[in-house]
Amino acid sequence: MSAPILIQGTGIRKVYDAKGSRGAVEVLSGVDLSIHSQERLAIVGSSGSGKSTLLHILGGLDTPTSGDVVFEGSYINRMNSTELARFRNQQIGFIFQFHHLLPEFTSLENVLMPALLSNQDKETMEARAISLLDALHLSHRLHHRPTELSGGEQQRVAIARALINKPKLVLADEPTGNLDKHNATAVMELLLGLQESENLTLAIVTHDPMIATHCERIYELQAGTILKSDAK
Ligand code: ADP
Ligand code: MG
Repeated sequence: MSAPILIQGTGIRKVYDAKGSRGAVEVLSGVDLSIHSQERLAIVGSSGSGKSTLLHILGGLDTPTSGDVVFEGSYINRMNSTELARFRNQQIGFIFQFHHLLPEFTSLENVLMPALLSNQDKETMEARAISLLDALHLSHRLHHRPTELSGGEQQRVAIARALINKPKLVLADEPTGNLDKHNATAVMELLLGLQESENLTLAIVTHDPMIATHCERIYELQAGTILKSDAK
């Protein structure tokens, strides 16, 4: 693949400490992976295989026990908490299985939240938020609160929120896992459309073989390591 590497993980290990009667659990035992600029990568694997753990480590939400994660030349595993917060806010868009929208705020306000934290021009960001919500077919839901939206609509707001700061890397953890098939397909199509129009690099954890077929490469996690990396 000719595109430059955007993020590279080398020898990523993650051990969760012993709690109560449970011994320490080694979830990742030396994962090597690289994600190229503007590619679509699927990460698959059975439940409990460490997919979410890996995604959180790549996005700086969690730290590896050992190993390195390098994003455009910066070691994110060596950043302090202030640097990490800034890195996540500016470079990473997270989409989770559950939308985690703030219930007391409207769609538009939820989407603008990461922009407020990054201190950007209010009018420019509001215009971008409205345009993203429009691309996600939510122009008629700008001022609704999460409880007034369907599951598919909530997840589309969460996608707009993930993209508001123009992150280079979008990490999606089973983003349609909570939706029925019809909504899952619609949300995925919109997300893939935005991946192209916004030139995003997208890593998506999924159980859905249909989604994986829309990706250029597939990594499978098994027994703590990457089992295979298939070209489509
Ligand atoms: P997946 O997303 O593939 O289902 P996870 O990354 O969520 O897997 O979890 C992998 C393993 O790590 C599971 O066995 C899970 O119980 C364990 N695990 C995840 N988070 C923690 C934690 N904070 N403390 C202890 N064990 C954890
Ligand atoms: Mg998971």
